[in-house]
Amino acid sequence: MKSGTCPLCGAKEIYSGADVSGKSGMHYSNTIPVSAFCAAVLDNYVCGQCGYVQSFIAKEKHLATIKKKWPLVF
Ligand SMILES: [Zn+2]
Repeated sequence: MKSGTCPLCGAKEIYSGADVSGKSGMHYSNTIPVSAFCAAVLDNYVCGQCGYVQSFIAKEKHLATIKKKWPLVF
């Protein structure tokens, strides 16, 4: 998605929500819980053709926290 191509339908019409204002903050409208005291902000990418949504952890420190706190899947 980040490279501009939809992995589902192959369309090259991807819209980035990375710079949407209010994606974090008091309403936590675009976060996932990482631990009891931490929520990670997400960057969303949407395909303009099929509507597929892909989310990425926006901040490196949140990704680092997840790697410390969450179990690795085998
Ligand atoms: Zn698509």
